[in-house]
Amino acid sequence: MAEYDYDVLVIGAGPGGYVAAIRAAQLGLKTACAEGRETLGGTCLNVGCIPSKAMLHASEYFEVAANGAMAKMGIKVTPELDLDTMHGQRRDAVKGLTGGIEFLFKKNKIDWLKDYAVFEDAHTVKVGDKTHTAKNIVIATGSSVTPLPNVEIDNKKGVVVDSTGALELPAVPKKMVVIGGGVIGLELGSVWRRLGAEVTVVEFLDQLLPGMDGEVRKEAAKIFKKQGMELKLSTKVTGVSVKGKKATLTLEPAAGGDSETLSADCVLVSIGRRPNTEGLGLDKIGLETNQRGQIETDHDFATKVDGVWAIGDVIPGPMLAHKAEDEGIAVAENIAGLTGIVNHDVIPSVVYTYPEIAGVGLTQEAAIEKAGGDKSAVKVGKFPMLANSRAKTNHEPDGFVKVIADAETDRVLGVWCIASVAGTMIAQAAQAMEFGATSEDIAYTCHAHPTHSEAVKEAAMAVQGKPIHT
Ligand code: FAD
Ligand code: NAD
Repeated sequence: MAEYDYDVLVIGAGPGGYVAAIRAAQLGLKTACAEGRETLGGTCLNVGCIPSKAMLHASEYFEVAANGAMAKMGIKVTPELDLDTMHGQRRDAVKGLTGGIEFLFKKNKIDWLKDYAVFEDAHTVKVGDKTHTAKNIVIATGSSVTPLPNVEIDNKKGVVVDSTGALELPAVPKKMVVIGGGVIGLELGSVWRRLGAEVTVVEFLDQLLPGMDGEVRKEAAKIFKKQGMELKLSTKVTGVSVKGKKATLTLEPAAGGDSETLSADCVLVSIGRRPNTEGLGLDKIGLETNQRGQIETDHDFATKVDGVWAIGDVIPGPMLAHKAEDEGIAVAENIAGLTGIVNHDVIPSVVYTYPEIAGVGLTQEAAIEKAGGDKSAVKVGKFPMLANSRAKTNHEPDGFVKVIADAETDRVLGVWCIASVAGTMIAQAAQAMEFGATSEDIAYTCHAHPTHSEAVKEAAMAVQGKPIHT
């Protein structure tokens, strides 16, 4: 009889966990995956990436029809919002994709253990009332919304909501206040602004989108303001009170000073996410979390407890689905005795607003800091989307591409763009960086015309001061 029930037991079926389970099974390992949610796919498929993109896509069409952009191209329409149908297509997308993972589990003979798992020891977990053993256990429990102290989220009531509640609002709020000008706030704030809400974003820092390139952050703020979002930067929310269907927020300058109040029909709390480790029984296996509540691993995604591994949002690094997926593949390969590696220096990130905002690698500020503050160690090439023939033809003038390269070696250190399809454009930058490309390599790669991606080539040419079209 086998020593353990499974070779690999994955806890959590988000993009990290389900991918780890599939790759482990593909490698011939007997695999199970515990998931407490009713459907597979984790935050990403159920209440994150997928439903938010379904609402972003649909609301973008609505806005294009409503704001005269179609009339400019000779198409006259007067759109009428059918929010129930819009929500319906969102639910359909989620259902189809989560069902797809269930199919993949069956195809790969992965046992789905349907409940939350708790460690009993490093090779044993309790899932519901059953106990299962495994030679290797992968923690892929993901993350949840960070609460704002003294602010109660009630997604059912719909006045103070988190991202899950903001995806499901039954009507367009008249006034929406978004707390936190990060990715979730700007994406979901954009959805409801496009559908008719007056949206105010309150951000503690002096710019939106922490972690992104400084010029990109400034340009993004200009664009969102032009679209009609009110931005209150360097401002913190110190309290939210709810009376019936109305909320009143108390705001203070981040540096201290007089407070003001703001009323809203809907408040979205989007101030970050925190790792899910509560109730997992980490104490039973002697595993502690770091100061940010994350589980630390080595380069192979092994924790300090033999046989226990961790990936995705629950470990340090950006909380992104594709990062979790790549770690899922790598951890399974390492468990199988292969060499699974993730290059954490080349993880693209995309904000799916209009225009999209994307980046990979170092920001200009980080590149200079890495060079000990020597500005001349970094070369930058920029190209405006206004000068890109495809963007101009499509009436998409906003944004730019910025290529950051090492002044001595010309190796690309980072690429940032704001463009209607920046999320698609960034893939070539990530691939170039993965292959150790120089800006010259990108500049001398033939790009199809007319495409938005030609702006990446031109920005790379601009690193040497020789773009053609500006
Ligand atoms: P998760 O997806 O969080 O999955 C973890 C799973 O583990 C959950 O299903 C949970 O139920 C389960 N679980 C937890 N504890 C246990 C337990 N003890 N036993 C059993 N199961 C357990 N990222 C992007 O890259 N692109 C996007 O466009 C994007 N959009 C987003 C939009 C929103 C609104 C949100 C909230 C997030 C978005 N993200 C996006 C982030 C992305 O969803 C996460 O980075 C990703 O889901 C992390 O994957 P994971 O597998 O680590 O964890
Ligand atoms: P975030 O970290 O992106 O942004 C949170 C923002 O809230 C920060 O700018 C922070 O300064 C601000 N903030 C914190 N406390 C505040 C306060 N009291 N008052 C005002 N502002 C305050 O977090 P998020 O937007 O909640 O997203 C969480 C995670 O989900 C992110 O790590 C992101 O990577 C992931 N996500 C990714 C995507 C995507 O890839 N397109 C989409 C959604 C979410």
